[in-house]
This record gives sequence, C-alpha cells and structure tokens, in this order.
Amino acid sequence: MATQLSKLDLILNTITDGVLVVDSQGVVLYANQAAETLLARSPLTGQSLAIPVNPDKNNYQDINLIRPQGIAWAEMRSAPLEWDGRPGYVIALRDITERKSAEEEIKQLAFYDLLTKLPNRRLLQERLKHSIDVERREGKQLALLMLDLDRFKAVNDNLGHLAGDELLQQVAERIKNRLRDVDMVARLGGDEFIVLLEDIPHPDDAARVAEKIIKDLSKPFKLTQSDDVRIGASIGISLYPQHGDSYEILLDYADTALYHAKDNGRGCFAYFSEDLTTSARRRIEMENRLRRAVQQQELRVFYQPQIDIVSGRIIGAEALVHWQDPIDGLIRPSCFIPIAEETSLIVEIGEWVLREACRQGRLWLDMELPLLTMAVNVSPHQFQRSDISALAAKVLAETHFPAGQLELEITESGLMENQDKTMAILNNLHEQGIHLAIDDFGTGYSSLAYLKRFSLDVLKIDKSFITEIPFNTDDMEIAATIVAMGHTLGFKVLAEGVETTEQLDFLRQTGCDIYQGFIASPPLPAKNFADLLSHQRNGNRI
Ligand code: C2E
Ligand code: MG
Ligand code: MG
Repeated sequence: MATQLSKLDLILNTITDGVLVVDSQGVVLYANQAAETLLARSPLTGQSLAIPVNPDKNNYQDINLIRPQGIAWAEMRSAPLEWDGRPGYVIALRDITERKSAEEEIKQLAFYDLLTKLPNRRLLQERLKHSIDVERREGKQLALLMLDLDRFKAVNDNLGHLAGDELLQQVAERIKNRLRDVDMVARLGGDEFIVLLEDIPHPDDAARVAEKIIKDLSKPFKLTQSDDVRIGASIGISLYPQHGDSYEILLDYADTALYHAKDNGRGCFAYFSEDLTTSARRRIEMENRLRRAVQQQELRVFYQPQIDIVSGRIIGAEALVHWQDPIDGLIRPSCFIPIAEETSLIVEIGEWVLREACRQGRLWLDMELPLLTMAVNVSPHQFQRSDISALAAKVLAETHFPAGQLELEITESGLMENQDKTMAILNNLHEQGIHLAIDDFGTGYSSLAYLKRFSLDVLKIDKSFITEIPFNTDDMEIAATIVAMGHTLGFKVLAEGVETTEQLDFLRQTGCDIYQGFIASPPLPAKNFADLLSHQRNGNRI
C-alpha cells in the first residue's frame, strides 16, 4: 500500500497541475508539489484551506488564491473522494493567473483610456445607455457635459507631446475631484472629455457643475517642463429627457452646444437650447452677486404694517428682507429669495433677518412704541434643514425680544414635508411661546382640517384671492370661507395684499381680523415704520 502511494506521488509530481486531497473540514491530507508551488505553502499536508468546494457535485470554477506574494488565479475542479476511510474531496488546480491578467489588460484597453485611466467612449456608451433606462424608469433627468480644452494645442506645439500628456492627466484628475462618486468622466480622445451627471434635480445643476469645472481648469497647471501653464475649457450641455433620449442624440447635441459655448468666446458653458443657457447664466450670476451682497451687508429689513381691521390700528409688522444693491438699487425679496432657497444661502439670510428683526423690535419696545407682533418669514428649507427652534431660542435670548411677540410665518409646503418632524418643531416653538402663522394660505394643498393638527395661531390668506375682489365672486367665496372656517378652528385670519377700500370693506364684512397691504402701507425702512408707530402713539390713525 505504502509503495502504491509513493508511486502515485511520483506520478502526480510529474504534472504541472496542483492536486490535493482535503477532508470535509478542508484539512489537507495529501498535496503534490505543483499544489504547494501554486499555493506558495510547503508542506501543505495538515494545513487547513479555505477552498470553496461544493460538496454535492463535481464542480469547475475560477478561484482567486491569496498568496504571500500576491494574488493568483486557478481553475479548479473537485470531486468527492474517500481517503483512508474518511470522506473528503480531491481537488485539481490549474494556474491561470497569466490568462486572467491578460484578460484584465484587454478589458482595460477596451474600456479605459491608457493615458488618463478614465473610461473611454465605449464604456461611456454602455453606462449612458444604462443610465437612460434607469432615469426613464424613475422619471428622473440626467445631463451630459462635453468639455473641450481651450489653448491645448498651444501647449502641445510649444512644450511638446509629453507635456501635453501630463497636462491631460492633471485635467482628468481635476475634473474627477469636482464630481460626486456616482458621476462619470470619460475621455473621448484628444482634449475632449465627457461628464455624465445622473439624477439631477434641476437643469441648472448641470450649469453649476460646468461653472465649477471651468473655474478649476482655469487655474494654472504645474508641469515638469513649466510650472505655470494656463488653459481653459468650454462645455456643451445636453439633457435627458429634454433634448433627447438616446446616446447618439445626447452626444451629438452636447457637441452642438459645445460649439455655441466656443462661439460665445470660450471659457463658458452652453446648453443645447439657448433659453436654458440664458436663464442658467442669469441665475448663476445672481447667485454669486447675492453671496457677495450677504458678505458686504447689503441686505436690509423692511417692515410692512399689519393692521387690526376693526380698530384700524397697527398691531404688528412683517419683516421683509430687501437688497440694497449699489448698482441696481433696491431689489424686492421675490427677485432673490427663490435663488437663495435653491442654494441654501437662505439659511444664512434667514438667520440674519430673524436676529435683525428681533433687535429692531426690542429697540421699538424700549422706545415705548406700540408694537404687538413682529412676524418673520421662515423658508421651508430653513424649517426642514436647520434647527429653527434652537435658533429662535438663541436669538430671543440675545436680543431680549419677548417670545410672545414673535410670530414665525411658514408656508404650507414647509408643513407638508416630513410631517412628524414638522409637528415636533412646531410644538417646540409653541412651547417657547412663539406664535405661528401659515403664509400664503390657499395656494398649497392642505385642508383646514389638516392644519388643526398643528399648534398654529394665524392664517394669512394669500393675496391672489384678494386681488380680484370685488370682480371675482369665486375668490370672494373662497376668502369668506377661509375666514369662517379659520375662526371655527380657533385661528386669527389675516388678509394679504389689500389695495382698495372695496376689498377692505368686503373683508370687514366677512369678519377677517387683520390685514396687510398697499392701501395702508408698503414695506418700509425701519426709520419710516417707527415714524408710523409714533404717529399712532400720539393718537392718530394711519
Ligand atoms: P410674503 O411673506 O407673502 O410677503 C408679502 C408680499 O406681498 C411682500 O412681497 C409684500 O411686499 C407684498 N405686498 C404687500 N402688500 C401688498 C399689496 O397690497 N399688493 C401687492 N401686490 N403686494 C403686496 P415681497 O416683499 O416681494 O416679498 C415676497 C416674498 O418673499 C414674501 O412673501 C416672502 O415669502 C419672501 N420673503 C421676504 N422676506 C423674507 C425673509 O426674510 N425670509 C424668507 N424666507 N422669505 C422672505
Ligand atoms: Mg410672509
Ligand atoms: Mg404671504
């Protein structure tokens, strides 16, 4: 028997495939020399191996062997085998490491660009087709950015191709660093790159990314040959589904857009459709100006009186932020608040307005001016994504403005999102003694019954229902119904945008409590509003 085994051993050591026998726990009972070489362990007998053997049947698979000096690949066959009366397996391993690495290399060559290691046109095509399918299913949009370097040819011509190559590698790196992990950047060849942005909430988002990439690439590059190489980039943008729904069309349109961008003087982006380009550029410019305005303290709070309909007295003020631009003059909030909301600048602006309004309110109280309520708008963004109750507590403590005289205005859409969290925030504000108003009521989807669940104090009827009184009877009925139902639910009701005596008379008949509007006064600078209050203190009506 022993001689039989040593003969078998001799035979098995002549072949280049590894042969082993393991027991059912994976402990090696026998191994030939090739197996020891392949697994880089000797002796193997007695060691336990984590080789995935399928106990039920003969199997065949490629496995990855981790060895001390790196990874090897083997093709494995195995079969159940009894050895010295113990159940186990015989395993044959063929070294296929070279074939695997050749395959990897082919894949790399086929799908990636050698110079920058970025995905190439083929991989982009596969990925984009897949993305279009996903976005179609989920009703989302994606953007394709085609980027071309300005003045790249000059670098190649003056500094040579090696410098050009080095530059392209650094460009690839800068673009990659600007993107989210889920985005893709591919190199199409030459100095052309494509960026794929999946699942973008707004078409402008593509322009924002484009702007940032252009800015990144306009900074000087340090190359071996020269440490101050300056180039630039132009970007063309096409959108799915707006501009097309196939790889070919999106690529073609991004290319067309790129030509528009270059026509425009390079160093800028363009969408395939011109109106998108114009509006995105305008918004981005506005965003940058607004950011500067906040830093340079160009914002001012204006105050619009809130008037008791029965007594005609000012009982409160709504704080409305305005922008005193050195060139364009005074800018109304409706022109910049929406942009601030898109960029989350609103959180910073909102915090400033709240502090400024409370500070001003405290000053007026100290001057013994008769002001009951200071109403401050809170955007849904601030409400959902910053801690408004902590902020309110902090500002009230800092300014010594009484919580009971602060009213926060929240729109219906701010309430609809994330209702459990909303409820908790409202309760917290309510416990601090702060009053809560629903702004622009009637424009959202909430029913009055739904609002009953929240601790609210005031309903502000949106001005769109007031404007056409007395000509639009539907609006009159809606306004009257909101007043009646609001009262049933225990709210005070305020009408916004009152401009005429007919409107005011009608509202008085419905029993509406408070109004705001140009008939009494537009929003005023603090000084002018204080004049109104002192005028009233001296026994006059406004
Ligand atoms: P809102 O809170 O509904 O403010 C009332 C708007 O109606 C103000 O517009 C006001 O000037 C205007 N208004 C008042 N009376 C009349 C009138 O009789 N007729 C007409 N046609 N309009 C009148 P404004 O100042 O342009 O503000 C627009 C919106 O901007 C505000 O609507 C508010 O939602 C937002 N906003 C203003 N300041 C802030 C702020 O500090 N934070 C936040 N998050 N939003 C603000
Ligand atoms: Mg308001
Ligand atoms: Mg309003």
